[in-house]
Amino acid sequence: METEKRIKERLGVETAVVAMGGHAFIRKDEKGSIEDHEKNAAEICGRIMSLIERNYNVVVTHGNGPQVGNLLLKNEMTKEELVSMPLDVLVAETEGSLGYILQQAMLNQLRRRNINRYVVTVISQVLIDKGDPAFRNPSKPIGPFLTKEEAEKRRDTLGWQIIDDSGRGWRRVVPSPRPVKIIQRHTIRDSARAGHIVIACGGGGIPVINNANNDYQGVEAVIDKDLTASILAADIDAELLIILTDVENVFLNYGKPDQQPLYAVTVDMLEKFIEEGHFAPGSMGPKVGAVLEFLKKGGRRALITCPERLEEALAGRAGSHFVGRV
Ligand code: ADP
Ligand code: MG
Repeated sequence: METEKRIKERLGVETAVVAMGGHAFIRKDEKGSIEDHEKNAAEICGRIMSLIERNYNVVVTHGNGPQVGNLLLKNEMTKEELVSMPLDVLVAETEGSLGYILQQAMLNQLRRRNINRYVVTVISQVLIDKGDPAFRNPSKPIGPFLTKEEAEKRRDTLGWQIIDDSGRGWRRVVPSPRPVKIIQRHTIRDSARAGHIVIACGGGGIPVINNANNDYQGVEAVIDKDLTASILAADIDAELLIILTDVENVFLNYGKPDQQPLYAVTVDMLEKFIEEGHFAPGSMGPKVGAVLEFLKKGGRRALITCPERLEEALAGRAGSHFVGRV
């Protein structure tokens, strides 16, 4: 089989999972037009080429916060005229649309460089536990910011659970259960090992449970994309997990006068820093949590940096590097 031949040819080639945040598609002060999406995707795919040029197998995963938020709003605005779709379907829609945008940007970068690699997007289901405590305590704000009155109206008419999101406005909240495993992990791994660039688990993946009939069934929840990236990297036996965000380094005492960038960190050091509370829960917390989980499951290396520093970081001259127990 062609795939098996390619996998044999690429034996020993390392696989990297690259996870990127919302900035990959929409920058501060942008509206998120298709032109914005294409420009930003081209930029980040250009950066990812430094992994391709180093001959890594590459799996890319990405967030979908603003995009799924828009779909939720559209759903709601047209609910009198059109049938609305549940959140799991909307996540699938963003996996498709953002997958297309990334796929096209990636192909264009490869063509410019005359590199003969293929790109594929996998609509990815992620298994969660139906008994996950997150279902009793929905905590993930999604969709647009609303006034208190608007939010309460939607709570009463649509059955939403709502919260005051850090004083910035009112939002819908949904459960954010932990990812257990990636249903498409074999396909993703085999494609990556054959050298194809795989885009998978967009938006943290589509949350599905095993229902009473032992069937898979989508649920209205969202999975943290950083935690999914960690499970994905472990499930496909990746050597390297790279988390791209909008800071060049992870810091101790972040935002304080004595803040200190981290350069090389072992698992033991990372556990200690997490215990000391250096990483904010909704932002850096899940990223370092994802790194820790990946390394504890046998992952070799992880890197957190910004796209602009990726190339230098791969050469060991930038970014925060994390190593597993040897
Ligand atoms: P993404 O969209 O990539 O998930 P987030 O905003 O969720 O981005 O997370 C990145 C942010 O985490 C940074 O912009 C920074 O403000 C924040 N942050 C919190 N704690 C730290 C820390 N200890 N070191 C660096 N950044 C931190
Ligand atoms: Mg985040």
